[in-house]
Amino acid sequence: MNTTCFESPRPTGTAAVASHRCDVLEHRSVNSRYRYLRLRAQADLAGMTRPGQFYQLRCPTTAELQPFLLRPMSVYGTGPEPGCIEFLYNVTGVGTSALATLEVGGSMDIVGPVGNTFSFSPTFSRVMVVARGVGLATMAPLVKAAGQAGVAVTALMSARSPNDLMEKEFLRGVPAEVHSVFDSDGTSDVAKVEALVRTLLARQRPDVVYTCGSHRLLMLLQRVLVDHPEVAGEVAMEQRMACGMGVCLSCVRLFETPDGKQFKRVCREGPVFPIHEVVGEVEFG
Ligand SMILES: Cc1cc2nc3c(=O)[nH]c(=O)nc-3n(C[C@H](O)[C@H](O)[C@H](O)COP(=O)(O)OP(=O)(O)OC[C@H]3O[C@@H](n4cnc5c(N)ncnc54)[C@H](O)[C@@H]3O)c2cc1C
Repeated sequence: MNTTCFESPRPTGTAAVASHRCDVLEHRSVNSRYRYLRLRAQADLAGMTRPGQFYQLRCPTTAELQPFLLRPMSVYGTGPEPGCIEFLYNVTGVGTSALATLEVGGSMDIVGPVGNTFSFSPTFSRVMVVARGVGLATMAPLVKAAGQAGVAVTALMSARSPNDLMEKEFLRGVPAEVHSVFDSDGTSDVAKVEALVRTLLARQRPDVVYTCGSHRLLMLLQRVLVDHPEVAGEVAMEQRMACGMGVCLSCVRLFETPDGKQFKRVCREGPVFPIHEVVGEVEFG
């Protein structure tokens, strides 16, 4: 894919990352599961962070909750002030439950930005984003970039039910053609989504399809894109990881690259990868 990327060269994920002490400016519930967090650091995080990149969050400790490892969290947004950075997270376990106790006016440390970014060009005509769950937090800055560049956006959003969709939080005012599918009414069924994706690809011919948040949707897109070699595909992977610095190797995944099968670290070589390179079933040995 021949693209110019975001304002600066595409980060490779190998640059040194820094720890930033941040002030908590805003922290609130979005719905029963998701919370919004806005931090401000001394450094210009907004200026140095690209869509798809993530930070390692040092969650607070409480009497009941003592998360040991830092928790990876995608950048949901930046700004409006130079040092500000936004996260949208699902409260799932020890770390995110502890994070939810963070009070406005308090502080926390974050490490990053970590990882690479999506391939994107303002010369694209249309992009398609396929998101489910926390994937929408990862792709929201990409949608914003497309909107700012005047690139048309097709959003295929999958959720358990209409209450979980968070369309407003995903698009943040960017005009898009939205297709929503739900577990609750059966429209998220793989065969139905595949038919919808095939129809949209044939009709709209987007330059690229991006996805995050669902292995099932990733595998579906990999299958469908074989029939559309003119459409590029990228996935931001949310692999479980420990150090997030490329050292512990806990986040390695197998990829089918032009040089053959290779294990890559999602935290360092990713988290964004070409969809066709992802190997669904990991083969060891
Ligand atoms: C690159 C990346 C970006 C992410 N962006 C977001 C985001 O924007 N919003 C959001 O809500 N979540 C995001 N996640 C998932 C988030 O990191 C996990 O939900 C979180 O770490 C869970 O921690 P916990 O202690 O609450 O849960 P626990 O299940 O108690 O976590 C235990 C351990 O598993 C790890 N872990 C658990 N789930 C995941 C997961 N899905 N991915 C990676 N590690 C996991 C934790 O880091 C921790 O070390 C992202 C994950 C990655 C890798």
